[in-house]
Amino acid sequence: MRNFLTRAVWTIILAAVIWVIAAETRIDAFPFTTVYINGPKRFYHRVSCVMLKRGHPKAISVANAKKRGYNPCLRCQPPEW
Ligand SMILES: [Zn+2]
Repeated sequence: MRNFLTRAVWTIILAAVIWVIAAETRIDAFPFTTVYINGPKRFYHRVSCVMLKRGHPKAISVANAKKRGYNPCLRCQPPEW
């Protein structure tokens, strides 16, 4: 019985760890979190933002944009994570 409990606990822990890893990995690939940067201003945008009409917007992940010091655009309010 005790063995069974130990194994059950470990299975749950393992499942939780796998779930967390899967969730973390999906964040970067998720279409939501792809944002666009454009020009010298340190803001990132949604693809539909009017601020991207000029120039050559570059696709980047939110995490990457934040790491590089970009802030979310006030007009299109892209996701923050
Ligand atoms: Zn914008």
